[in-house]
Amino acid sequence: LTLLGLESSCDDTAAAVVRQEPGKRAQVLSSIVFGQTELHSAFGGVVPEIAARAHAEKLDLCVVDALQAAGVTLQDLDAIAVTAGPGLIGGVMSGVMCAKGIAAATGLPLVGVNHLAGHALTPRLTDDVAYPYLMLLVSGGHCQYLIARGPEDFTRLGGTIDDAPGEAFDKTARLLGLPQPGGPSVQKEAETGDPKRFRFPRPLIQRQDCNLSFSGLKTALMRMRDQIVDEKSGLTRQDRADLCAGFQAAVADVLASKTRRALAIYLAENPATPTLAVAGGVAANTAIRAALETVCDELNTQFTAPPLALCTDNAAMIAYAGLERFRAGARDGMDLTARPRWPLDQSSPAMLGSGR
Ligand code: ATP
Ligand code: FE
Repeated sequence: LTLLGLESSCDDTAAAVVRQEPGKRAQVLSSIVFGQTELHSAFGGVVPEIAARAHAEKLDLCVVDALQAAGVTLQDLDAIAVTAGPGLIGGVMSGVMCAKGIAAATGLPLVGVNHLAGHALTPRLTDDVAYPYLMLLVSGGHCQYLIARGPEDFTRLGGTIDDAPGEAFDKTARLLGLPQPGGPSVQKEAETGDPKRFRFPRPLIQRQDCNLSFSGLKTALMRMRDQIVDEKSGLTRQDRADLCAGFQAAVADVLASKTRRALAIYLAENPATPTLAVAGGVAANTAIRAALETVCDELNTQFTAPPLALCTDNAAMIAYAGLERFRAGARDGMDLTARPRWPLDQSSPAMLGSGR
């Protein structure tokens, strides 16, 4: 099977071609991502209207590039997969309309994909991971533990009750005057910092559930910064590095502790497949990765994380999630709707009707 995938739910316009031969792991034939960072940088966040327009402008070019890079034509495809939510609605609509246009012109079947399912299934594209497995999705907009049992069968064990960790990294960078996206710049600063100098809280760590909270870390950081900042000269390099190191260590600790909890619950029911997969942009963080690997070692669990390019937003994950749905018989019609909200533990877009 060969699928084209389209992604436009946030600030990356992406198209990709994924192919799976019977009995083999799927292959990414091409994955094109046009980022929009410069378009939004002056505004301190993604501007939905600007994003939607840029997606509408770039999607067709992206598709042409993806087909060309993969060395295939529309005739070689079996279906078109497209992110149908959740995300910024204008962008999601641009993608869905583009996919419908191609489907109408070619007669190819259309498969709507949940963006989060795309992230959650990526470990099966990049590694030998069988169902079920425990998934930790840690990105700019999400943080949740899911048991993945099939392409549309997810059970949520818990998640953040406020900010996502990526958001917390981004806000931290902003508070310290570091460039966006915050994750990589905070990680870099933290390399030369002392994680013990500032005592960051470990929110919800005592609670025996799988819920997390990150907004308090940002508040704590702001308070600490204001205590040490010199009105004239600002923060010293070392201050900034120590704040980043303390913040990052707190995030890693909280994630490790809650992962231990989620894994215990998961393993009690699924001892035959002890696997933790992580995905989402924050999974790129080396300190967080190391903390999670330690927990997995303790609990004799396989740890897997896709390479960075497939952890952040891309269309290969959408094409792959679409491929799994398609193989299971899923087809969407021209009534496929774009949904701004779409929790993963609910199933296909067609069954749910319009947005919620
Ligand atoms: P979602 O997928 O939930 O809609 P998103 O698309 O914004 O959110 P991703 O593209 O998966 O999220 O990841 C981007 C986020 O990952 C940003 O918040 C970024 O700061 C964070 N990130 C990237 N690299 C790192 C890193 N090395 N350490 C920590 N965070 C990182
Ligand atoms: Fe994403």
